[in-house]
Amino acid sequence: MKKSKFIWYNGKLVPWEKANTHVLSHGLHYGTGIFEGIRAYSNKKDLYIFRLQDHYDRFFNSAKVAMMQVPYSQKVLEKATIDLLKKNKLKDCYIRPLAFIGEGAIGINPGKNKINMIIAAFEWGRYLGEDGISKGIRMKISSYARMSVNSFMTKSKISGNYINSVFAKREAVGLGYDEALLLDDDGYISEGTGENIYIVRNGEIKTTPVTSILEGITRDCVFKICADNNIRIKEQKFTRDELYIADEVFLSGTAAEITPVREVDDRGIGTGKPGKITQLIQKEYADIIKGINTKYKNWLTTV
Ligand code: PMP
Repeated sequence: MKKSKFIWYNGKLVPWEKANTHVLSHGLHYGTGIFEGIRAYSNKKDLYIFRLQDHYDRFFNSAKVAMMQVPYSQKVLEKATIDLLKKNKLKDCYIRPLAFIGEGAIGINPGKNKINMIIAAFEWGRYLGEDGISKGIRMKISSYARMSVNSFMTKSKISGNYINSVFAKREAVGLGYDEALLLDDDGYISEGTGENIYIVRNGEIKTTPVTSILEGITRDCVFKICADNNIRIKEQKFTRDELYIADEVFLSGTAAEITPVREVDDRGIGTGKPGKITQLIQKEYADIIKGINTKYKNWLTTV
């Protein structure tokens, strides 16, 4: 991650180093915040924010689940995001909107504490590495289960939820793997720490239904790409051994984009190289985000 000049903080552009908060902010103690992860991509001519409105739609849904009143309208935040990229003179970048509960009450009930809002944007390369995107990554089933939907709510990007992902990620990386794969309460495959997962068998794709997972925006792109290319994709629970014997496995996410998985629990997947369907989806996704595939131009916001 590379620092940029300004961060949008409660309606103002402040220098990166000055974007601080009080140590008694409720969000810092209890994870009472909601956030998004968005990417912008440039081609030779233009810079596009990918699915800006969809990300802010999800942001406001997260706010609803978390019972937090975002103090700005979606229109204001979308415009602030565009302006921030311009002011920071950014090209390809990652955008992180976050609303968090500020100082005041320090008990569990945040009462009427102020809700703060920031938008940061910065250069951030391949989340799972250049090699990960081209050759595939190695995953390990986590000893941590995906958080239970009746304890944490997985349809929302609530900051505190992510401790589950942090535990799993640190464990997997500590053991020498690239990413963790979490099972749900019933022992079925759920998702990665920040990615949805897919298996390909006999030319058909299966992905986890929207139960224990975050409804990924990239996941929605994968469904559209499959429809355009006559690839069958179904939402169905599957087990870890079905994944071991799949022909291909891949992940999707704003940060991870479309990442092939070449190994799970020390078992090679398929040929051990990114498969045909994974590569096709990767290529289609790359064309969509750069505006080369004009069918989805409405997903791009020009900066
Ligand atoms: N699952 C989790 C837990 C995530 O944090 C993310 C990243 N937002 C995803 C899946 C993928 O979602 P998206 O494609 O919208 O980035």
